[in-house]
Amino acid sequence: MPTRPEVRYGAGAVLATPRLLAGLGARRVLLVCGARSFEASGAARMLPELARVAQVRRFSEFAPNTDAADLARGLALADEFRPDLVLGVGGGSALDLAKLLAAFAPGTDPAKLPALIRAGERVTTREPRLVLVPTTSGSGSEATHFAVVYLDDEKFSVAGDPLRPDLTILDPELSISGSRYQRATSGIDAVAQAIESLWAAGATPASRRWARQALRLLLPAIEPYVNEPADRSARAMALGSHLAGRAIDISKTTAAHALSYAITKRYGVSHGHAVALTLGQFVEAHAAAPAGRLQPGMDPAAHREAMAEILHRLGAAGGVDARRRFTGLLERLGLTPGLGEIGVRTAADRRRLAGAVNAERLGNNPVRFSGPELAALLAA
Ligand SMILES: [Zn+2]
Repeated sequence: MPTRPEVRYGAGAVLATPRLLAGLGARRVLLVCGARSFEASGAARMLPELARVAQVRRFSEFAPNTDAADLARGLALADEFRPDLVLGVGGGSALDLAKLLAAFAPGTDPAKLPALIRAGERVTTREPRLVLVPTTSGSGSEATHFAVVYLDDEKFSVAGDPLRPDLTILDPELSISGSRYQRATSGIDAVAQAIESLWAAGATPASRRWARQALRLLLPAIEPYVNEPADRSARAMALGSHLAGRAIDISKTTAAHALSYAITKRYGVSHGHAVALTLGQFVEAHAAAPAGRLQPGMDPAAHREAMAEILHRLGAAGGVDARRRFTGLLERLGLTPGLGEIGVRTAADRRRLAGAVNAERLGNNPVRFSGPELAALLAA
């Protein structure tokens, strides 16, 4: 299993997919892709050629936030078709599902899946090859060793080295066709991942390097990419979101992501937008946090340095200004910036959200927050 998978990058790179898959010896390809985005993104242009080099079965019957039922349907198909390669083409959900199918196929009993997922055991092997082609910029899923899956509205993360692909095909042209809202939510997700990775308790010098490079590419490009996408901004977003994926592959995400899963499930807000709804509050709070509020083991100097970098990239003079600027950015991207607008209005709503957060993820936040402190932050 490669620890640093190969990446083919460039405009039109998707057209090389059939040749690259043939080079990997693929004969039976399970194509996991969105129902509409596969055609709309232009990725489908490679299908006639792919059908000449391998047998292809397509799986598109899954919801935006992958749950165990989607996975069980895909596994039933994989059991019958016996793919030697899983090709995931799409946004974060499609790529995560492709990763999970490749890891659990063949032979995992769908009835045992929920217990396996709840047990949180790491994936240690994978039989089929795995190739990922993101069509959004982006979740960074193509660069990480984990995948999100829901059981009864509860969010779980399956992890293990085999969830990284053998090959990623990164074609910035594919990401232009989405709606403005889709580009805004996936783009701001990448920005949030880079920021959270930079300040995460689990950050390392390597993850910080990826996160810094990601932020440098993403922040100047996101507005033109969302409002008037062109080759230049699409290239910066494709690379930036991939690098943010590499950064969180090491550091993991923090409190804004931890809160986002409950916001998505309860209020129907798409992932990146849900993350962005609280990120500004955390930027402000983290910039102001005294050393005594940091997680045990956090180096205060490293935290100050990470926050200085984030404020600098946002063009802000301090934490309050950074939050104001981030809110302005969301408005210019067409994303409503307030929790109130999406239906989180009362103190009870905020307590419920704060209470739904996964404790392990909060432990990766640089600053400690108790449940009531978190609810208070959401009211700010
Ligand atoms: Zn995310």
